[in-house]
Amino acid sequence: MVTQRVMAIVGAGHVGGRAAQTLREAGWRGGIALIGAEPHLPYERPPLSKGLLTGERAAVQCGLRDPEAWREDAIEHVVATVQSFDPVARVLYLADGRTIEYEALLLATGGHARRLSIPGASEPGVQCLRTLDDAAALGGRLTPGSNVVVVGGGFIGLEVAASARVRGCEVTVVEGGARLLGRAVPAPIAASAQDLHARNGVTIRLKSAPRAFERRDGDTRGTLAVTLDDGDVLHADSVIVGIGIEPADEIARAAGLDVERGILVDETLETSARGVFAAGDVAVFPSRFGAHRIRQETWHNAETQARVAARNMLGARDAYGELPWFWSDQYDHQLQVAGEPALGSRSIVRTLDSGAQIHFDLDGEGRLVGASGFGLASALAREMRLARMLVERGAPIDGEQLANPEVKLKSLL
Ligand code: ADP
Repeated sequence: MVTQRVMAIVGAGHVGGRAAQTLREAGWRGGIALIGAEPHLPYERPPLSKGLLTGERAAVQCGLRDPEAWREDAIEHVVATVQSFDPVARVLYLADGRTIEYEALLLATGGHARRLSIPGASEPGVQCLRTLDDAAALGGRLTPGSNVVVVGGGFIGLEVAASARVRGCEVTVVEGGARLLGRAVPAPIAASAQDLHARNGVTIRLKSAPRAFERRDGDTRGTLAVTLDDGDVLHADSVIVGIGIEPADEIARAAGLDVERGILVDETLETSARGVFAAGDVAVFPSRFGAHRIRQETWHNAETQARVAARNMLGARDAYGELPWFWSDQYDHQLQVAGEPALGSRSIVRTLDSGAQIHFDLDGEGRLVGASGFGLASALAREMRLARMLVERGAPIDGEQLANPEVKLKSLL
């Protein structure tokens, strides 16, 4: 039966787009409204800090699907900002005055790039990297020989640093913490990443943060002076701020949904309001490893939660149980993390012939809860695929065998 009400998706990013596609694949014949503030059709984010900056990829190649596919599926892309919604009346209110009555709603609002609140933070040449437009602007600035200061030594910061080196820029990374990649990567892997960047000519300043940016027109060393908290001054043509995101949970909070640095959902990705789901960077969901909840800002999470959420909008009640997983490409190296390494109490290192390393994390009962790998991308992929399968199984495992590269991971499965 076709109803008047539509399936509504707020946020036309990776999650929103994939969910809309899945609704059609699962047989929904009614309307689908895919509402997003950006003018672009859904696109994938991984290339924004890599191929799009180095020039290996064009913006059109970042699209989640061919532009025609959205039309063929009769998915209505509404370019607008959603101001609020009423989860009882099931109505969305757009900033331009329009209203949309929905059957079920998916909140796929993602996050806002965190900004610095220091003098000069909005000077031209200081920018963050979250959207396709941000990447286009930055790509235009990374001219060979220019001075680039990257604030934040997390994933975005380090990927931008690598891309800027590939473009021939002089790069300094300014990281507030005592090490790089503090959020989600074990310390030894972060140390290997730091070595790699140093070998590629990136200057890394740890325990350091900017205090102010100042415009200096005509200065040949760079039109921006970056004063650090220890008083040193760096000269930059471009500053990229990669200090994380804030989950975009404002409209959910205003509608009275349970929100806690992201929108709380159950294992079916349903929020505290019936018929309202959340997925992707904004969703705080139950961990498969215990009673706690987690939030994931990864391609894999977007891709897999979108599909489950869409089926559940149609009444399936599938549980989301994917193992967390992400990767980061820097130069010819790759970093991968599977599971939740932070839950481990013991770590076992496996060093491959190529020099690549995998750190396995075991919990108090000897169960594998995480695997983090770093090395040449070509050498790491196969081993990490098997490592993921081992963590996925979650069975107790013999640490000595894991550490021994002579013992094939496949034989431990
Ligand atoms: P992203 O996904 O944007 O890379 P991460 O959380 O992975 O986000 O990394 C952000 C990094 O930025 C962290 O390593 C954090 O310590 C660092 N950081 C946060 N605020 C500042 C700051 N004011 N100056 C320097 N580094 C900062």
